[in-house]
Amino acid sequence: MRVRAAGLKCPAVRASQSSAHRPFGTTLCRMSRDPTHPVVHVEYPDWVDSVVDWEQAYPTDEKRMRLAIAIARENVDRETGGPFGAAIFEGPSGRLVAVGMNSVVRLNNCALHGEMMAFMMAQARVASFTLNAPQLPVHELFTSCEPCAMCLGATLWSGVQRVVYGATREDALRLNFEEGPVFPESYHYLEERGIRIVRNVLRDEARAVLEMYRAKGGKIYNG
Ligand code: ZN
Repeated sequence: MRVRAAGLKCPAVRASQSSAHRPFGTTLCRMSRDPTHPVVHVEYPDWVDSVVDWEQAYPTDEKRMRLAIAIARENVDRETGGPFGAAIFEGPSGRLVAVGMNSVVRLNNCALHGEMMAFMMAQARVASFTLNAPQLPVHELFTSCEPCAMCLGATLWSGVQRVVYGATREDALRLNFEEGPVFPESYHYLEERGIRIVRNVLRDEARAVLEMYRAKGGKIYNG
């Protein structure tokens, strides 16, 4: 399977880049001439600009986490995915770089957890496969729920240098979302690589979104 870089040749991509809610050009062309070579399409749902203020600064951990939680809540409200939201900021300035919302069911893609989408969008925006490139400021991931095994692994490769999460693995497990093989050693490994972990920021607000999803009978899509 190929993932085509956006914005070069496909007319649909060029058209999409004028859209205000897709400012980073990560939309991929839906069309593929060859059915054996599918093109993977990743984009935000239409509501993203109604929740995300791209211009304001997010100076505190609480403000940054509130955005991640608001994205998770909206994703549930609009029925566009699971109850998980994420955002990536430049650490010192609090500038918002990218957001992500769980899009597994919406886009038929098991990799599209909120954190993974945020990594993809952020890296597309800064045009670098790592957010830890020498010319870039420090980047931080805020996620409404503790990362699963996939997202924690991708955290290491993403180049973010700080991870802040809200609800915990136990909160997610209560809804039968599996988080995979994440062990205390997994966190130690990241910390030894210089990644700081901050836990339980606005946990109750983040957990409330999980409960909202459960109350609505939202799909549990793992497994
Ligand atoms: Zn994940």
